[in-house]
Amino acid sequence: MSKSTFSTHHGMTDLLPGEIEQWQALEALIHETARRYHFQEIRTPVLEQTELIARGVGQLTDIVSKEMFTFDRGEDHYVLRPEGTAPVARAFVQHHLAQRGGTQRLYYIGPFFRAERPQKGRQRQFHQFGAELIGASGAIADVEIIAFMTAIYRQIGIQNTSLKLNSVGDPSSREAYRKALHAYFKPLAGKLSDISRNRLETNPMRILDSKEEQDQPLKAGAPKITDYLSATSLAHFESVRELLDQMDIPYDVDPFLVRGLDYYTETAFELTSPDLGSQDALGGGGRYDLLIEEVGGPSTPAVGFACGIERLMIACEALGISLAQPAGPDIYFVTRGEEAARWALKKMPELRNTGLVCTMDYSGRSLKAQMKDANRQQARFTVIVGEQELQENLFTLRDMVKSEESQVKSAEIADRVAIT
Ligand code: AMP
Repeated sequence: MSKSTFSTHHGMTDLLPGEIEQWQALEALIHETARRYHFQEIRTPVLEQTELIARGVGQLTDIVSKEMFTFDRGEDHYVLRPEGTAPVARAFVQHHLAQRGGTQRLYYIGPFFRAERPQKGRQRQFHQFGAELIGASGAIADVEIIAFMTAIYRQIGIQNTSLKLNSVGDPSSREAYRKALHAYFKPLAGKLSDISRNRLETNPMRILDSKEEQDQPLKAGAPKITDYLSATSLAHFESVRELLDQMDIPYDVDPFLVRGLDYYTETAFELTSPDLGSQDALGGGGRYDLLIEEVGGPSTPAVGFACGIERLMIACEALGISLAQPAGPDIYFVTRGEEAARWALKKMPELRNTGLVCTMDYSGRSLKAQMKDANRQQARFTVIVGEQELQENLFTLRDMVKSEESQVKSAEIADRVAIT
């Protein structure tokens, strides 16, 4: 009878030792950057109410209409969160975070889920880090969010990114633009791709998002939103541009940048990398002044970003950037016999308390096999422990890098390894 084996679902991956060190280093860098920008971490559940996402992200978006992982239990409708902003908005409302006063500066790192067709840079479980600045309407907040996002890439050394900027306006600007787009695309309907034709009546702005070949020449002549912005929206957009210039953050205005989520108002941005292939967005974000009210809170302006960690890792790989080297143990105890193994087991916590990374053989292998294992694990030192060594309190300390050996007493091990 053959044994059945299991594997991860399509589009979901394990992160294994060797790769995980990069993730840990990146997470540490994000936490540190957030600390300096004075953003506080928020962790929300992986499961949310389906209605929250449907209302927050928008019924007509790809995410809600076809990419949600949902299930029901009794009366409750669960969705695996496909993005982080609606959950943070929910938490803001649920916990009355506005009462803490001032603006709320929140960031998160975690897994998200979308039932997309997996390809390089596009998974069904992926990870994002993101930030939300809630309670500020001025252009300064937009630019602070963009500065926080770009600082992370700059510190990593991912320099060749481009920041695309647009304004999707306030609702009145959008309505005027929607009509203009509809009027422009309507006579071209026969030439549009099926997806875009379907969007014509429901959400013509999303046609601009189309990656379909046949839509590209039609898109090129479409009206630009910048010509339809209300005076207030235009002034906001101009302030954002001015402040970005002042901050020396380069950007390109892309009048066709519309993000795939419905909650954006005013500023929209996307950070792309030429190293990512067809899925070239590292991250993006924008202002979402209507979302908090939409999910039941008081009218509250807000702006945020979300970036994909897998795509950041792809860019690092393409650029030869290593965030962390997998580190071997400082000391590997090579033991001969049961008594030696027990001694090492007891000695290790003492050394670990001084900050040293210690390990040993756990399966009673031969000395030769243990030395080979220490080598494979890239141990800096080995300490050889046998009956005689224990009796004499004199151990062979081998520097695996220099291939040098010396005799040390038990109490000297920590110092000898730490100072080298
Ligand atoms: P969005 O929430 O759609 O604005 O996505 C923000 C960022 O998350 C994107 O720019 C990608 O870097 C990343 N991302 C979104 N969806 C996926 C996915 N299915 N797989 C991997 N990364 C994703």
